[in-house]
Amino acid sequence: MTVAVVVGTRPEAIKLAPIVELLGSRALVIHTGQHYSASMSGTLTPHLGLPAPSPWSAARPATRSAQLGHLTAALGHVFTSRRPAVVVVHGDTTSALAGALAANTAGLPLVHVEAGLRSFDRTMPEEHHRVLIDHLADLCCAPTPTAHENLLAERIPPDRIQLTGNTIVEALEAALPSAEHQARTLAHFGLVNDGYVLATFHRPENVDQPDNLSTILAQLDSLPSPVLLPAHPRTRSRIDNYGLHEPTGALRLVEPLDYPDFLALACHAALIISDSGGIQEEATVLKRPILVVRRSTERPEIEGTFGQRTTPGPHLASLATHWLSNRPRKLAELASPYGDGRASRRIAHSLDAMANEITTAKTA
Ligand code: UDP
Repeated sequence: MTVAVVVGTRPEAIKLAPIVELLGSRALVIHTGQHYSASMSGTLTPHLGLPAPSPWSAARPATRSAQLGHLTAALGHVFTSRRPAVVVVHGDTTSALAGALAANTAGLPLVHVEAGLRSFDRTMPEEHHRVLIDHLADLCCAPTPTAHENLLAERIPPDRIQLTGNTIVEALEAALPSAEHQARTLAHFGLVNDGYVLATFHRPENVDQPDNLSTILAQLDSLPSPVLLPAHPRTRSRIDNYGLHEPTGALRLVEPLDYPDFLALACHAALIISDSGGIQEEATVLKRPILVVRRSTERPEIEGTFGQRTTPGPHLASLATHWLSNRPRKLAELASPYGDGRASRRIAHSLDAMANEITTAKTA
């Protein structure tokens, strides 16, 4: 029995890879190409064994609604012709919502990995995507007890929810390079263990507003330690479009990194500053402190232990400097709130059970 796994963006590829590996030849991975630049998606393919984007992903509808329509129709076509037993989507992207809608219209069971996250911020398209997918799903795989509670609070029946943990834990463990590779990566960028800040920014609330983006870059540039920022294509294009100045101080912008290289740098950073969801989770596995620059968050678990959420503004540099000089001592002893490294096995087991149930029903 085939399990269709819909992948569109970098974090989906990273976090679904351990499930795809466990499914082996039963996995039909469909890459929608939502992250289509080579720096975002192409570099993941050799590391994670994911297929190249599907041919129909070359069409780039100009609006989000047109993209949703295009992806839903294309995925619907794949599901109707291949008839997988189950469809798996991850998180809150347009690809995930399209996969959920297409599975629903094709009458196929749907599994949502990383279900139940809620920012309660209705200005974020992702929040609407998550809610819609969770209510369509036949099985919601909640990564944390908070996500589990969120689903119950929305009256999703308990038998459609499984507390699995987040697959990021085992995805990271599989991709973390050797100590030699880590040392080489730091040396390549002229960085030393615990002597730099690693930053990433890509959320519209930070990079689509020229004032916010220029404040963030200026604040990072004024830090007392070197700051490396692998720039997401969206961030890079906004910097160019807004005509923002190249940094002249601590900040250095580089191209997005391969996942193992990024992990090597995250592993030894004195502080991470980011608006990324996945990097927040990784910081708890790597035991690194993190400042999350967001208006709202769907991942409250790091607050007060591994890090702190803040908004963009002129206070950013002093807050970061405070975290740099007051390193939390006990991070190494804290368990990650995102799981025990067995989430993918639990999910693969449930997928097998669902597929078997369908086969039995068909042959009865
Ligand atoms: N990442 C990467 N290379 C980079 C920056 C990030 O491989 O240059 C990885 C990172 O380790 C994490 C994922 O990309 O696993 C996060 O993706 P992103 O921040 O784009 O999305 P989000 O998690 O916010 O949805």
